[in-house]
Order: sequence, then structure tokens, then C-alpha cells
Amino acid sequence: MNIVMFGAPGSGKGTQSDLIVDRFRLTHISTGDLLRAEIKAGSEIGKKVEGLIAEGKLVSDDIIVALLRKKVETTKDTAGFIFDGFPRNVAQAEVLDEILKGIGERVTVMLDMEVEEKTLIERLILRGQQSGRADDNMETIKNRLDVYRNVTLPVMDYYKKQGCYRQINNNGTVEQCFAQVEAAIEDASK
Ligand code: ADP
Repeated sequence: MNIVMFGAPGSGKGTQSDLIVDRFRLTHISTGDLLRAEIKAGSEIGKKVEGLIAEGKLVSDDIIVALLRKKVETTKDTAGFIFDGFPRNVAQAEVLDEILKGIGERVTVMLDMEVEEKTLIERLILRGQQSGRADDNMETIKNRLDVYRNVTLPVMDYYKKQGCYRQINNNGTVEQCFAQVEAAIEDASK
């Protein structure tokens, strides 16, 4: 079981991923978390990406693919993965297929978290106030939503063509969303 969590910034991918981990025991890989760990550690990669993330731009495919590949290929004994924040463009979607093929796996289901834009912005501003994440401010949020619309949205068609696309409505509560997520995963694993 390999799940791609898809959706705009603030659409609840991380929150739902945590619930999926508890229920289905999968390995959660958040590319945003991997990058923030590099920044915190003060690594070369961290120094390269810090400014880009603060501006709401995407990090280069080379960097992010290398981090993701390493994480997937060094994780042993797992029932599967939850990819959160990856793929963010079609080239990354193609690489993910290749990486999974290398370990005899494939994407089982892509969960598209749909949230109204007004709600996305409210949630991100609130998160910025609570967590102090450098990219949760109004200007960067606008850039991230533009990148999502222009670069990331085509990834949806990529998975629709593969027949593993599922839409989830996350305008309601966390619990209402997870009920749909659970049903979609159970359905996909039949
Ligand atoms: P959100 O989904 O709320 O934007 P993330 O934590 O997933 O938050 O990502 C934060 C930032 O990290 C992105 O705006 C981008 O700069 C960078 N990033 C994360 N994943 C990728 C990726 N797959 N490709 C390129 N950049 C990425």
C-alpha cells in the first residue's frame, strides 16, 4: 500500500498522514519535513534550500529526489509509504514510479484533499502563528498557492490516467475527512 497525499498547502495532508500512520502502520515521508530537518542541521542542502522555502518556491528536483530516494531505499520492513508533499510536478511523479518499481511497488492510491481557498489561507495563517513556520505568512502563502496551481495541479491528471485518483473533501472536521480517507484506502486495498 503506497499512498500519495495530494492537495494545496494547508489542505491537511500532514494531519491526515498522522492518522493514517496510526491506523494502517505505514511509513510517512514528508518532503517538507525532510527539508526542514536539513535546515535545522545546518547541512549544505539546508543552506541551499532555506531561502527558496521561505519564498514559497520549489526546491530543485535533484535535491528533493535524492532525499526521497534515500529515505525509500533505506526503509526496511514497512507495509508501505505515505508520500506527503511529493510529487509536486509531473517529472517528480515519473521518478516516484521509477523508485517504487525498483522495490517492486507502485502507487496504490492518490488522495486529493480538496479545501476552499479561503479556508486554506485561514488555516495556514493560524499555523504560522502557532508554529512559527517561516513560510506561513501572507506573501509566501500566495506564492505557494500560485506554484500549486501552475506546477503541481497537472500531477492530478497523471494519477487520473493511472486510475488511482480519489477525491477527499476536507472543508469539514478532521474526523469527517479521515472517515473518507479510511474508506478510500480500504477500497483501494481490495
Ligand atoms: P505545504 O504543503 O504546506 O506547502 P511542505 O512542508 O510540504 O508544506 O513544503 C514546504 C516547502 O518545501 C515547499 O513550499 C517547497 O519549497 C519545499 N518542498 C517540499 N516538497 C517539495 C518537493 N517535492 N519538490 C520541491 N520542493 C518541495
